[in-house]
Amino acid sequence: MSTPPVLNSASASSSGERFLEGKVALVTGASRGIGRAIAERLALRGAKLACVATHAKNCAETVDRCRALGAPAAQALGVDVSSTQAVAELVEQVQKELGEPYVLVNNAGLTRDQLLLRMSEEDFDRVIAVNLKGAWNFTRAAARSLMKGRGRIVNISSVVGLMGNAGQSNYAASKAGLLGLTRSVAKELASRGVCVNAIAPGFIQTDMTAKLGEAAAQELASSIPLKRIGTPEEIALAVDYLVGPGGAYVTGQTLVVDGGLCL
Ligand code: NAP
Repeated sequence: MSTPPVLNSASASSSGERFLEGKVALVTGASRGIGRAIAERLALRGAKLACVATHAKNCAETVDRCRALGAPAAQALGVDVSSTQAVAELVEQVQKELGEPYVLVNNAGLTRDQLLLRMSEEDFDRVIAVNLKGAWNFTRAAARSLMKGRGRIVNISSVVGLMGNAGQSNYAASKAGLLGLTRSVAKELASRGVCVNAIAPGFIQTDMTAKLGEAAAQELASSIPLKRIGTPEEIALAVDYLVGPGGAYVTGQTLVVDGGLCL
């Protein structure tokens, strides 16, 4: 396997500016994996971070890292993203304590894999509730703030939402649903200057994929045209593009970041 590029604060400062200085970025699923990498990247850009996971304490380390990377403020928050009321209250708290969100990254997600005939109704409903309704909850709660600031929304979907995957009918449906949500909200909010896009990661090295085991991961990596799995930082860099100056005229799109897996 070839090694991925090394990213650090030096590469960020040489490749760009603190274009989010003092702006509020709300990142769900920020306790680890892709969400943590996104929060850290936005911290380098000068954003004030609202880091959300199921429990605030799960984001404590992310918050410390964001502050160390230069975020002017960073707050850890806990909520079940599937709870419409609790999400509305959390967004109100962020508005009061940090300011009106300019960036919203809907990244929180989970898998409950099972073949169709063995999948329970509960596992189908839970994955849709967290991965799809969770994003809708945050989008609706933050929409007014985002409209005021002509902000950006990035939804973290998956190549599975484009290709489907045996054993993931719930997850694939939730991730395909996110693409419909992305395009619809992009159309609704375009007149208010808000850009709404999705990223479809391929196979990325996180806790979610560690479940597969080393042997299966190696086999999967060999089937990827770029011959390696991706890193959370590589997804964070795609977010960086969409919320930065380069993304100002891009809306309703799905950016596939998968090493060529979908080709
Ligand atoms: P991960 O390591 O499993 O982290 C999941 C994050 O979501 C955690 O911060 C978790 O918080 C949070 N979360 C889960 N359920 C939640 C709920 N009900 N309410 C609030 N927060 C909740 O996942 P990851 O691999 O970084 O994936 C991040 C996103 O990328 C997901 O949407 C995933 O579907 C997508 N994605 C991942 C891959 C991949 O290969 N890894 C590929 C394509 C797409 P706690 O720590 O509190 O549990």
